[in-house]
Amino acid sequence: MTTASANMPKRAADQLPAIVEKYWGYTSLRPMQLEAMTAAVERRDALVVLPTGGGKSLCYQAPALLSDKPTVVLSPLIALMKDQVDPLIQRGIAAAYLNSSLDPDDRRRVCDGIRRGEYRLIFVAPERFSSPGFFELLGQSGVGAFAIDEAHCISHWGHDFRAEYRQLGQLKQRCPDVPVQAFTATATPRVRDDIIAQLGLSEPAVLVGDFFRPNLVYRVQRRGSGFGDAVDAVRQRPGQAGIVYCIRRADVDALTATLNSEGIATAGYHAGMSDEERPRIQDAFAAGHVNVIVATVAFGMGIDRADIRFVIHAAMPKSLEQYQQETGRAGRDGKPAECLLFYSGGDFGLWKSIIDNTEAANRDEQIRILGHMYRYCTATGCRHRKLVTYLGQAWDRASCEACDFCIEGAVPLPDSTVIAQKILSCVVRTGQRFGAGHVADVLTGNVTPRVSERGDEKLSTFNLLGDQPKPVVMQWVDQLVDQDLLARDPDYRTLSLTPHGGAVLHSEADANLYEVAHSGKGKQRRRERATATPTAPRAAGFSPRGDPHTTPRQRREERPSPVAPPRPLDSDEQELFEQLRALRRRIADEMSVPAFVVFGDKALRAMAQARPTTEREMLAVWGVGPAKYEAFGEQFLEVIRESAS
Ligand code: ADP
Repeated sequence: MTTASANMPKRAADQLPAIVEKYWGYTSLRPMQLEAMTAAVERRDALVVLPTGGGKSLCYQAPALLSDKPTVVLSPLIALMKDQVDPLIQRGIAAAYLNSSLDPDDRRRVCDGIRRGEYRLIFVAPERFSSPGFFELLGQSGVGAFAIDEAHCISHWGHDFRAEYRQLGQLKQRCPDVPVQAFTATATPRVRDDIIAQLGLSEPAVLVGDFFRPNLVYRVQRRGSGFGDAVDAVRQRPGQAGIVYCIRRADVDALTATLNSEGIATAGYHAGMSDEERPRIQDAFAAGHVNVIVATVAFGMGIDRADIRFVIHAAMPKSLEQYQQETGRAGRDGKPAECLLFYSGGDFGLWKSIIDNTEAANRDEQIRILGHMYRYCTATGCRHRKLVTYLGQAWDRASCEACDFCIEGAVPLPDSTVIAQKILSCVVRTGQRFGAGHVADVLTGNVTPRVSERGDEKLSTFNLLGDQPKPVVMQWVDQLVDQDLLARDPDYRTLSLTPHGGAVLHSEADANLYEVAHSGKGKQRRRERATATPTAPRAAGFSPRGDPHTTPRQRREERPSPVAPPRPLDSDEQELFEQLRALRRRIADEMSVPAFVVFGDKALRAMAQARPTTEREMLAVWGVGPAKYEAFGEQFLEVIRESAS
């Protein structure tokens, strides 16, 4: 096959901004775009990891205009190829796609065009590479570069492995002189290395964008029964554009019907719908005719609506990669948006059975990835931090100021160690052979058939936490797993004691448990507690602990300031706190933004306690960064100064 000559004009990269402006009308580039495009025009192999909406397409489309040979784009999304090609043609860029959806006449027309070297960009599905004539066809025109979209699909370690992607390893063998650029929105460090190895990239430029999206507020909560939480959440956001994700098609249909019956115009979307129906719904959403979509994972690729204000997961997705991608569709206009996740232990079991039924080649890997997702739900600590560090990005902020943990803090339980000992002891007494459900049944004195069959009501740990609802005890179990006091078998979900757990059980170490959200009878208790300790609001469904990638010791050392149990406000501080909240309400109303965009309660509480009177003192307060200071700092300082006079 002929390969592109390297006769690119010198300093071709300098021409890129002008080309982007001329054809796309963009006057500036997004982070990493220039680097990625420069690698392309310099004919380097590259791996580009940019979040959803980060502008990956431009990174291969603009350089294609500076090459005398076409760029071949490999994309798994046959249904979206037309959507990618049409706008290019409208911009005056010769582009075409070749896939199974073309009728014979169109296919012939495109093949002739390729032979004649008419196109700058040619979109194909990876399957093309198993057709013997395809390389021959490309050989007639030559290829300037290969761009591989959704490159994580090549990796067994990824969440979306596709066997046909493995053939792309041939590219470098058959066309060693043609640069290959791989693009993905989600790739853990392990997946990244695998993409490079599988594709045989040679000294690639590895360009990783910033995955921190400070305008997205993440909240996670264990689900009550059914989808009532998700319905409530949509109801509380009238008129906003949003997506609600479910696991199953049947859930999509049921939830869509419920929301419509409540007068919220909602459309459902899943792969079981007809080929005519799906684009119609996508278009209606993109055009703003429908504001709420309830969907399975099938919805979202190629969604180009910037004002999505919420992404709600009515159930847990199957990987953090998928979660990050789906939530990444919110707030692409840069304005505040919310990502709410309602999970249950049953979601893990459901996904596990789906994975087992599909007989995936990388089944064990998928279960491991699923375990990370579940742990994200049950773990505590900054949500943004967990997401970006999972994706291999460093995290150096004390707080994101944009997740349930960092905005609201968490309430430590005063009797943590004793409660932990009761749970750990019950795990041991039931033989370390059961999951959280049975252990919680025994602890709460719930005589299920299994409890009576095994005679577990005679155990000394039976009914030890009889004053607690079962879901609360199950969440404490999750907290203990996250703190490495208990280990959970990835397949069978059985619990066993770790050495650290043994130390707590034998009173050689302490445990930290935190109040958890629960939509059942625990609510009343929480309300009572909240009135008793007004300074300690509770974040939904979590307590502050570490990241699964760090050791317990590192976790203790790395804990950001919010982990320290909040000191109750005295009456003067409480009064100032209320004044600060009133100011926050006024500012938020004026700006038509949610209150947390101004400052979270925790930052206001810290202000009320620290009583800063200068810029310098204010910047030292938890949750006050330079940007927030610039926007609001002076107004808050004024209230604090006045309260002192
Ligand atoms: P990704 O593939 O990374 O999810 P896209 O390539 O689809 O993202 O780009 C997302 C949106 O951002 C598109 O509407 C695109 O036209 C727009 N976009 C890309 N780069 C820029 C830029 N430099 N300036 C403004 N808009 C851009």
